[in-house]
Amino acid sequence: MAEGGLLGLMRSLAASDWLTPVMDEFFSKRQPEEWWSPSCHLHPSGAVDPCQRSIQFGLLGHKSAVEARLGRIFDNGKSMHIRWTAYFAEQGMLLAWDIKLTMRDPLMASGTADLIVRRPTNLKNELLLGDLKSISSGGFKRLPPPGDGRSNLYNLAKLHPKYIGQLLTYLRACPIKMDGFLLFEDKDTQEYKTYLITYDEAMWRKLLSNAEVAQGACVEGRLIEAPFLRSHPTCRACWHRELCFRLQNGDKAAAQEITRRLGRAKR
Ligand code: SF4
Repeated sequence: MAEGGLLGLMRSLAASDWLTPVMDEFFSKRQPEEWWSPSCHLHPSGAVDPCQRSIQFGLLGHKSAVEARLGRIFDNGKSMHIRWTAYFAEQGMLLAWDIKLTMRDPLMASGTADLIVRRPTNLKNELLLGDLKSISSGGFKRLPPPGDGRSNLYNLAKLHPKYIGQLLTYLRACPIKMDGFLLFEDKDTQEYKTYLITYDEAMWRKLLSNAEVAQGACVEGRLIEAPFLRSHPTCRACWHRELCFRLQNGDKAAAQEITRRLGRAKR
């Protein structure tokens, strides 16, 4: 080891916070900005968004870098899925998990639903398609009281349109018709609430109206113009803002990448 490296190592071992520099380095490289294959197929998890251009960037394969803390939040969500899938399996209620579903009409969409379970108290042994969500304590407290499948649908569509749009897309794509459910677990306390969701075509179409426009633009090989100013709250919360701003700034490499991808996605 070079002298500088040894000195650096000794200094970091002597420092009180010996872990943060090492882990910061690890996390900073773990989930960089990436490009996946472009496709006109919507991903149900990214199909509900106030910005059509943002949905289109997802279709063109753009994956933003995930910063360290958010990466750990995502990892926590993944382990919550594994845990709850095991709970359902141990109860003998789990029928299927990680279910690949595809739809071609009226929209092209493909994704993976979390699970299908048998509803235990139901004499008909009814099946339910479920999605599992891990949320903050604040978000958990704001959840409405669970009601029937229709009231849950309307109440949660206001609060969590992405989750409802995602679940309705899975329900619509599933060849066996059934109701769905959302299970929310509080990240801090592990309390949970479940919501039966009844499929509703009008709600699905409303929630996916921006996705329909984004998909249409991909099919035509055209990039949607930015509909918001950069200071707009939607842009501040946008996953693709850095790419979007690079394009607006006239970044040639970004523009070439998008043109190439529009050509590949076009039908
Ligand atoms: S930065 Fe704003 S305009 Fe650009 S994709 Fe995101 S939300 Fe849309």
